Amino acid sequence: ATLAGEQLLGHPKGLFVCFLTEMWERFAFYGMKALLLLYLTKHHLFNDADGYLLLGTYAGLAYALPLLGGILADRFIGMRKAVIYGGILLVLGQLGMAWTGHAAEGVQGQAVQDTGAIQIMYFSLALIGVGVGFLKPNISTIVGRLYPEHDPRRDSGFTIFYMGINVGAFLSSLIVGYVGINYGWGYGFALSGLMMALGLVQFVLGRRHLLGQAEPPAGHTPKAEWLIYAGGVVMTFAVWQVLQTKINFGPLSALVGGHEVTLTELVAVVLGAGLYLWFIKLLLSGISAAEKGRMVMLMVLITVSALFWGLYEQTYGPWLAMADRAMDLTTFGIRWNAAQTTAIGALAVISLSPVFAWLWPRLDRIGLNPSYPAKFAWGLVFCGLAFAVLAYAAANPNADTGLVSLWWMVLAYFVLVMGEMVLSPVGLSAVTSLSIPRAVGMMMGAWFLFSAFGEIIAGRLGTWAAVPHDASREMALATYSSVFTSMMWIGLVAGAALFVVTPLLKRLTRD
Ligand code: GLN
Repeated sequence: ATLAGEQLLGHPKGLFVCFLTEMWERFAFYGMKALLLLYLTKHHLFNDADGYLLLGTYAGLAYALPLLGGILADRFIGMRKAVIYGGILLVLGQLGMAWTGHAAEGVQGQAVQDTGAIQIMYFSLALIGVGVGFLKPNISTIVGRLYPEHDPRRDSGFTIFYMGINVGAFLSSLIVGYVGINYGWGYGFALSGLMMALGLVQFVLGRRHLLGQAEPPAGHTPKAEWLIYAGGVVMTFAVWQVLQTKINFGPLSALVGGHEVTLTELVAVVLGAGLYLWFIKLLLSGISAAEKGRMVMLMVLITVSALFWGLYEQTYGPWLAMADRAMDLTTFGIRWNAAQTTAIGALAVISLSPVFAWLWPRLDRIGLNPSYPAKFAWGLVFCGLAFAVLAYAAANPNADTGLVSLWWMVLAYFVLVMGEMVLSPVGLSAVTSLSIPRAVGMMMGAWFLFSAFGEIIAGRLGTWAAVPHDASREMALATYSSVFTSMMWIGLVAGAALFVVTPLLKRLTRD
């Protein structure tokens, strides 16, 4: 079918409708995420460890639920309605957060422990998680559908779309970070909700540019539609409980030093085990040796990605805490706040993406384009090096002020994002090219599920960096330095190990 809709800048107009929708969705998501740890620890008096765990649990659910949101849209309500429904839940969640930030607001800077407000906060986080689940996978799928099959513009379409993600993250870290800290948490969350709402209005107004590609499947009934919407509400209530449940579960608790684990961690282990079983069954289902080799390589890559994200996502946890407690945040005569430092990551993605998009075809031409596992190994190594930078910086604060310069964090973020560039977009491409065709959808789901595992791992690793709130700056820095050194080793050793097995994996995939 030819999809000759109106064009803009050489792409279907619908791309820009999706771009803006996802940009404002990520604006809301990352703006809130930039404030979340500080909000939990300063406003609701969570200790560090519980703050990191909730951050990981919530973000983990927000990356796991798209699996469900994608399936429900495919089978029942179509992508356009899923995006609108998810967007509405997101707005409600952000407004709920705003209410909790406001209702319990005491004197500026004075913390509040109000159980009613905390329950509404958990519920709001659940609304956002389920909202992301309905919106994120489906807005991405629509982008792919705007191009006829084999259209060479599709890749650059996705590059533009990925830029939208990071422009949204960049703007919100700066703006929501500023408003949330300087005017009050509630205003920051409300601003996130407002921009998501505008993004949604824009999506509804621009719906004709989607060229009918996001409509419900044939045989769709209004009754089934309402059942899905009701299901979303039920899901929200379930997630509300899951988010705040910790349990004592023998083997898993033993693994984390005899502490309780979150219910989400247990669910993740069960889901992960189930996925490996499904995968083994697939390998035994009579596929060719070459296909088997490629699938094994893909599964290794997906598994490694969880470890990568587990380290990477320290940025919204211990990195942010270090910026808040021990950094000199004044540069260019402007005093930034800790939430705003997360903007550096998005800025690094925006500036490095074109470089890598330029680099790969050129390396390829001279026969130096690394294999998938080698790229992933580099990803882990860059990640390890980023932690080396911060570990060094934390051990060497300015002698007069006792503070660490913000420039160390800028350097650490850029090194970290080098890792993201050789792993994240490459991973998406690996899924589509290594998987046997009938399992692509499932493997893509697995890719994001392992991002979710990464978030959950990040929460758990983050607890290593927990410091008491009344700890001195020196003590906090000493903790960050030693924990970041451990994380550096995790990245470097895992990267080295992957380099070692790379030739083996390559041999497996040779026909
Ligand atoms: N930063 C990207 C996004 O927010 C991808 C993150 C991931 O896959 N973990 O969409």
